[in-house]
Amino acid sequence: MHVHLRVPGGEDSETMETGLKAAIAGGITTVGTMPNTTPPIDTPQMVSDMISAASNLGLARCMPVPCVTRGRAGESLVDFQKLHEAGATAFSDDGDPVHDSGLLLQAMEAVSPFNGVIIEHPEVMELSGGSVNQGVIAGELGVRGIPECAETVDVVRCLEIANNCPGHLHLTHLSSPRSIELVRSDCFRSAGVTVDVTPHHLILDETAVLEHESMAKMNPPLRSFNSRSELLAMVKKGMVDAVASDHAPHAMIRKRQSLEDAAFGIVGLETILPLTIEVLYTESGMPLLQILSLLTKGPAQILRIPEPGLAAGEKADIVLYDPDIEYSLYETGTFSKSRNTPFFHRRLKGKVEAVWMGRLVYRDGQFA
Ligand SMILES: [Zn+2]
Repeated sequence: MHVHLRVPGGEDSETMETGLKAAIAGGITTVGTMPNTTPPIDTPQMVSDMISAASNLGLARCMPVPCVTRGRAGESLVDFQKLHEAGATAFSDDGDPVHDSGLLLQAMEAVSPFNGVIIEHPEVMELSGGSVNQGVIAGELGVRGIPECAETVDVVRCLEIANNCPGHLHLTHLSSPRSIELVRSDCFRSAGVTVDVTPHHLILDETAVLEHESMAKMNPPLRSFNSRSELLAMVKKGMVDAVASDHAPHAMIRKRQSLEDAAFGIVGLETILPLTIEVLYTESGMPLLQILSLLTKGPAQILRIPEPGLAAGEKADIVLYDPDIEYSLYETGTFSKSRNTPFFHRRLKGKVEAVWMGRLVYRDGQFA
């Protein structure tokens, strides 16, 4: 539900074909694509063009998530109704928050009649501006840190807004356990806000930056050992609605830089399934069906996708997964055009063997 396909304008990092192949190889049949592109996705024409371009490829479906504000500039709202008619139900200025609270409230009201959702990237820019988590490692490396409050302060603002208007707000890639505690507190229960976390915030902590340098640089940053543990415990308790990859491909030239200068983000479509199962099932013993729900039913409900399932006469999306195969992306290669990930050499366990979307799409590393 959170993929940067980099189309249009970022084709040196990913194309629609490489991104959607990476999705299928990772067992994902629908991708919600973020609009921080060049130009930003904010017109009905762009939305319908993306949907049809994806459908012509016959790989994963593309579900464009257009901007909340025109040009993602944070100044005036898009035409939600027209974008909805073109096929959009979720909207986001991801990469940035909608920092104007008046616009955020109006956006939620505007999408409410068609049961749309606003996906908010919570960050207070005035508190942010570093490269890694604020803490011991940032101090050791002598780089500026990003405190958890850069996220949690914005989470509180969003919750108060959601509490005071109709419409559905979704907070994405939460990295601080305090954010989730706030969302689930009695005070904000009636706001009906949903949340997702990424596999990398569950599996790695800030020390990964020492080993992987800029390949472990992402926004929000990998947090402390304690924050990671608490976040994981909250997912186990059922306090999170979805796990999302935040697939953020970057051409190597933008990642092979100093920690301060390198771009934020890592690719994630081809590792989301084995990593999520590793951290939630193998390491934490969470029931497998509950984990799969965070990757399938959870995101589908948030994005208003009719629930996929197995019913007589219906077409189904099916992923055949072998939990015992061990490999590394270094050995098998990737379908994504970019390789910016700290998991490139890691032993992964479990691999997507085949994908059907009403017909066979992928089997044993080959596209049908
Ligand atoms: Zn974001």
